[in-house]
Amino acid sequence: MYTALHLQRKLRSGEAEVIVVTPDPYMTYQPFLPEAAAGSISPRHVVVPLRRVLDKCKIVIGEAKSIDHAKRTATVTTLATEEEGTGAVEITYDELVLAPGSVSRTLPVPGLADYGIGFKTVEEAIGLRNHVIEQMDIASATRDPAVRDAALTFVFVGGGYAGVEALGELEDMARYAARYYHNVKPEDMKWILVEATGRILPEVGEEMGKYAIRELRRRNIDVRLDTRLDSCADRVAVLSDGSRFPTRTVVWTAGVKPHPVLAASDLPLNGRGRLAATARLTVEGAEHAWTAGDAAAVPDLSAAQKGQECAPNAQHAVRQAKVLAENVVASLRGEPLKNYEHKYAGSVASLGLHKGVAHVYGRKLKGYPAWLMHRTYHLSRVPTFNRKARVLAEWTLAGLFKREIVSLGSLEHPRAEFELAAGGEPPKTK
Ligand SMILES: Cc1cc2nc3c(=O)[nH]c(=O)nc-3n(C[C@H](O)[C@H](O)[C@H](O)COP(=O)(O)OP(=O)(O)OC[C@H]3O[C@@H](n4cnc5c(N)ncnc54)[C@H](O)[C@@H]3O)c2cc1C
Repeated sequence: MYTALHLQRKLRSGEAEVIVVTPDPYMTYQPFLPEAAAGSISPRHVVVPLRRVLDKCKIVIGEAKSIDHAKRTATVTTLATEEEGTGAVEITYDELVLAPGSVSRTLPVPGLADYGIGFKTVEEAIGLRNHVIEQMDIASATRDPAVRDAALTFVFVGGGYAGVEALGELEDMARYAARYYHNVKPEDMKWILVEATGRILPEVGEEMGKYAIRELRRRNIDVRLDTRLDSCADRVAVLSDGSRFPTRTVVWTAGVKPHPVLAASDLPLNGRGRLAATARLTVEGAEHAWTAGDAAAVPDLSAAQKGQECAPNAQHAVRQAKVLAENVVASLRGEPLKNYEHKYAGSVASLGLHKGVAHVYGRKLKGYPAWLMHRTYHLSRVPTFNRKARVLAEWTLAGLFKREIVSLGSLEHPRAEFELAAGGEPPKTK
């Protein structure tokens, strides 16, 4: 979205046509997903409508399935091709920008495909919020202690941004929601963070990462370092330290891997499946092919050691997009290209309402100041003035009124009620 946005601003009228192929008609601002899960921001405001923002581009709602760069052709499935049963359409191009991001990196853990929940999309974030509140409702209503225990046990795998922030925000929300239940107390719930290495939140540095662990443990969150999830078959989370937790909630945020469409192209990949990129954001050895973001192995020119790649995060992705667009325009005009270079500024993470941790430009902050910095930073980063205003308005209203604790899980099955009334089978839920 950022590349297309800069292109539409910089290109002269008639100089080029920009086609954006995207599975969703919106861009998701992923760093706000944990707050969306906690109910602090409504789902519509963590996404940006592409048709409105990219009003000079042609938007194709579809998915690139393969790319034949030698022939300058992308094979794309759209809603229409599915409806018509025609398979796919071919889109030809002169310049290719391939930036499909990453997908969850899963491991062959028994039961994960059946019971695991991801946390990369707005649908998953809202689904998880509804699911957590639903578990509290189940626990409140059941007379079976085993069902209650499993419902109130929440396991998060992966101690990066996504896992820690999602757990921090949801635990905070559930703790608050518990005051409206006559028989569910915060201490009845078990929140477990499983991390395979010896640290969490590497982005905020070692000292702040240790603070985050202390803060989570102070809230009775069971942080298990150097531990892996071995299985979650039959709804029992089995950890590598031998412990077993019957649970209905296993959230998988154990890292990302490059999008599989990269392998369905004739472009060069590095050993870890990212597109081999140059510092000018071109694809190595390929003419008229460009890349950025999580999908691209861009050399980090600011790194102390040579040969390092830019980490997959929003900070690089957004800045690379701007340089990429400038370079595309420069190449069309026969002007010199420039290198992408950005020194990592550090990071901010929220651990729930009024709690956070930050390490930015050498300054370390924790607690309320870090949380405030987290909000200010992301508010300045979320695209468009419209979204900034709406998010700010929501935060202000949430400060004046109480938190939203409603679960609208039935939104996920809007026809269920009618199907039942019409005599059909209700949809099966897991
Ligand atoms: C919960 C969460 C919290 C995060 N918090 C932070 C944070 O605080 N700070 C930070 O720096 N980073 C954070 N990140 C990471 C950051 O969001 C990513 O690094 C960043 O979004 C990468 O940008 P991208 O453009 O490469 O990929 P994406 O933002 O994933 O965009 C790729 C787009 O390509 C589309 N696409 C995929 N496949 C195809 C296809 N075949 N055809 C057409 N389109 C396709 C996708 O639908 C998507 O819209 C977080 C990530 C998550 C999940």
